[in-house]
Amino acid sequence: MSDDADDRTSERALRDLLRHERRDRIRLKDADDYKVTEGVFDSRTLMSIYSLMKGKYISSLRGVVKTGKEARVYWGAAASGEDLAVKIYYTVASQFKRRLMYIEGDPRFGEVKRSPHGLAEVWARKEFANLKQAHEAGIRVPRPIAVKGNVLVMEFIGEGGRPAPLLGESEVDNRDYLTIIHYIKELWNRASIVHADLSEYNVFKWGGDLVLFDFGSSVDIGHPMALDFLRRDVETINRFFESRGITTENAPAIVEQVLGRCRRTH
Ligand code: ATP
Ligand code: MN
Repeated sequence: MSDDADDRTSERALRDLLRHERRDRIRLKDADDYKVTEGVFDSRTLMSIYSLMKGKYISSLRGVVKTGKEARVYWGAAASGEDLAVKIYYTVASQFKRRLMYIEGDPRFGEVKRSPHGLAEVWARKEFANLKQAHEAGIRVPRPIAVKGNVLVMEFIGEGGRPAPLLGESEVDNRDYLTIIHYIKELWNRASIVHADLSEYNVFKWGGDLVLFDFGSSVDIGHPMALDFLRRDVETINRFFESRGITTENAPAIVEQVLGRCRRTH
């Protein structure tokens, strides 16, 4: 494609995006989260999306998948036709304090830009780095593709723009429980991170596979609160499986196993 044609493609995609944005605003006008979401596409965010389009990571954005607490997730497509999930972190101040705790203390992200936009960018980079470490360690997560500013591009888990069912919406069995516990161990020991927001809402069950996602909060195991986050993740997962009638292992024992301190009794 010529540069001119590229520019036209990117500009068309950007116009589509703005159309979505206007429509969502109208739809969200009376919703509680209107204030939070209206800041999604400030001019720096638009420039980041534009640059991801020029860089050929995104060829189009097709619609909103979900407007969450931290970010809005779009269904997009790559030039190859591959489905994408494009997560755009809000740049408003409301998320500022909460985020700071998960960034300060992480040796990978020492210097934090103390502005809402700066922090949203660190947050996107952090989720990207976490996904990359997990992916490289062989844990099933959405494959990270690119990050620019507060915009993160990753593999879409689902079909036809519909995200895969969450664990919390699915039938579960003992194998699923063991898989998640295994992933928690692998995250700590191979990827050197702890998810820190693990629950039935941040795991997809997709064709028998479990896919962990939403790694924005995840921290390096060197973070001073890493062990607290690990305990909380294990307890949350245990509570969910118990509520579904599945027998779980004692949470402190699992934590000891993750840390490799388990005593072998045979
Ligand atoms: P929430 O407030 O729901 O926790 P969040 O801002 O923390 O949202 P995520 O949990 O990462 O963001 O994503 C929110 C939703 O977007 C998911 O529940 C899912 O429906 C969709 N989603 C996120 N990532 C993907 C993906 N890789 N593929 C498909 N859908 C996704
Ligand atoms: Mn989430």
